[in-house]
Amino acid sequence: MTSKVSRRRVLKGAGIAAVGGASALLGGSTLAAQQGAPAIRTNTQAGRRIRAFVKLDRVDIPSMQPVTLRALTGRMVAVRTEAAQTCYSSVGQLLLPSPAAAQNVNVVGHGGVGIVEAIGPEVFAVQVGDRVIVNFHSSCGWCHNCVRSRADQCLNGGGGNTPTGDTADGKPVFSGTSGMTEVMVVSQEKCVPIFTDVSSVELSMFTCVGNAGLGMAMTKCPVEPGSDVVVFGCGPVGLSAIQGARIKGAARIIAVEPIRYRRELALKLGATDVVDPNQYTSRTPTPFRGISGDSYKDALVDHIRDMCRQRTDRAYAGGGRIGPDHVIEAAGGDAYGDVLIRPSEVTGPDPTGMTVLSQVWQLCSRIGTSVSCSIGFPADARVQLPPNEWADSGKHFWGGTCGGTNTRRDVPRYVRLIEAGKLDMKALASRNYPLAETTEAYRVAMNRTVVATIVTPNA
Ligand SMILES: [Zn+2]
Ligand SMILES: [Zn+2]
Repeated sequence: MTSKVSRRRVLKGAGIAAVGGASALLGGSTLAAQQGAPAIRTNTQAGRRIRAFVKLDRVDIPSMQPVTLRALTGRMVAVRTEAAQTCYSSVGQLLLPSPAAAQNVNVVGHGGVGIVEAIGPEVFAVQVGDRVIVNFHSSCGWCHNCVRSRADQCLNGGGGNTPTGDTADGKPVFSGTSGMTEVMVVSQEKCVPIFTDVSSVELSMFTCVGNAGLGMAMTKCPVEPGSDVVVFGCGPVGLSAIQGARIKGAARIIAVEPIRYRRELALKLGATDVVDPNQYTSRTPTPFRGISGDSYKDALVDHIRDMCRQRTDRAYAGGGRIGPDHVIEAAGGDAYGDVLIRPSEVTGPDPTGMTVLSQVWQLCSRIGTSVSCSIGFPADARVQLPPNEWADSGKHFWGGTCGGTNTRRDVPRYVRLIEAGKLDMKALASRNYPLAETTEAYRVAMNRTVVATIVTPNA
């Protein structure tokens, strides 16, 4: 599909209908204001009062507070938020008071989608009126890591050391990435301008989790047509990874997930097989099996290796019990500090996630790629791997950082895949909440009763 979407059209409200087409995400007064917006408008935000979800002190859980914005500095951008997805990795911060949490007043969130309303004096990459995806990760194009093709590790993204506003009692507010706020104040390096009719609710899946899943399957794993891919976890990250593997032409995609409705959705989105890990929980020690042998027999690893077994055992005929070409870990752990989060939906055999990390490595073929991008593992835990195999096999392992996504390169590609009907993020964006119900949106995400929840602060 070829779709020419002008900034004028975006300002007039095209392309911002909520999923399901029930309502536009912006109110009429906002639209009127944006229709009159000049191309360049700097530092018009000072003194403006907005509402944002912030964490006021070390032991508090975040709440909606009035914030008075400061003047925009440098390359900072003010973006009126249309939709922001509740990343599971913030669940602990939102729901569990912790003395180890940040001391500053920070706006909650891992990015969002919205319209640029004002820009700082040094901004050059976006204009007022642009529709942008504010990403958790930045991409400046100039730093040491960006010029070495590793924008996923960009060093210029934060903009988080300068307060962007003040609370009612005068405490400075830091934005970082933000998202759960009426106006995101972020650096331009986090903003990717998007020109499309795709709804903001769907696009909000590309601020963090969708990028992580798609990046793992499409950037970090060299998935070739006809390959076998195993994905652990069918939350928004894993379901994105499954779609990425399908788009790249994997012949077999095995999804490992304890929750039934997520396994069923995985099959609709591209998985060819699903496995409930709670059916394969035994781990039994094995006698010494040579320098590359595992020290124990893991029933889940064994079962999936059998699923991936070639149709012959004759090595000269390409056969054997090879194992999958690629294994993607999108399950994560449920640890938040010393606390283990307890979802209402069923969890896997090991809620710390540590067993899955070992299984991911073991399962992968000797020349395959395994990749992980989760968090939530207990900080003092250690991954157990067969040491000889880890040191001397041909396996590759990649650590995540949003699946290696270069936001300015990859996010527009992902949007085009939606437009082409090849990628379904609508199926992942399950339920919308107003800003005042942000805590509930995170609680539902924590309980995993739906795939993903979205906050629409200006709906
Ligand atoms: Zn995130
Ligand atoms: Zn950079």
